[in-house]
Amino acid sequence: MKKYNTQAIVLKSTKFRDADKIFTLYTKDEGKISAIARGVRKISSRRAGNLDSLNVISVKISESKGGFKNIDEVKTLQSFKELKKDLETSKRAYFILELVHKTVEEGEKDERLYDLIIRSLKLLSTPRCNPDLAVVYFEIVFMKELGYQLDFENCVKCQKEIFSSISRKYAFNISRGGFVCGDCSGSGFPVSEDLVSWMGKIWKGDLKLKEKDLIKEIDSLLKRYIDLKLESRFKSLEI
Ligand SMILES: [Zn+2]
Repeated sequence: MKKYNTQAIVLKSTKFRDADKIFTLYTKDEGKISAIARGVRKISSRRAGNLDSLNVISVKISESKGGFKNIDEVKTLQSFKELKKDLETSKRAYFILELVHKTVEEGEKDERLYDLIIRSLKLLSTPRCNPDLAVVYFEIVFMKELGYQLDFENCVKCQKEIFSSISRKYAFNISRGGFVCGDCSGSGFPVSEDLVSWMGKIWKGDLKLKEKDLIKEIDSLLKRYIDLKLESRFKSLEI
């Protein structure tokens, strides 16, 4: 039997038998895993509260030869209390967890993705950070981690530096995964020069953008991009 300790974020739980629950965790060392916590639904269980969704935990796992995983011990490292209390931030935090839960396969180790989830949740719980901006940051870096990095520097059609075009009319082309410069008559959503430049800055970790409407516009572009790319990812997985 394999035993190990790791850190994890609790993505989800489902009831299992009378007293047990199955938890989906995103762990630092093993990627996404499902593990059973026995007796956790009993009122007397001291482990129950530690395993709330969104908690960052330190966990001891034992894995049988058949691959079944048990949660033996658990300790809360961070519970994001303030974030959970606020409807606006908690809604966005659960969106991040859901996206990871739905798109990442079990057993794909990715420590950078683990760090990204934690970093984004910390951003969300920072009162001075616009919650949509924290989500935008997560979406941009998450897509890169999955292999769908957007190009913020060059035109996806002519490959020239995006701001070198004479015309300042830019477009975002979802299927090509980037911007089309003003000199190419490419199809896509018309976007402002400001939007192009801010998306590149956010990608580099500059989160000073204050304009709420622009943040919303970037968020909705990214969500369409995610929908399109991950839909085809699911299809290819089914085949
Ligand atoms: Zn071009």
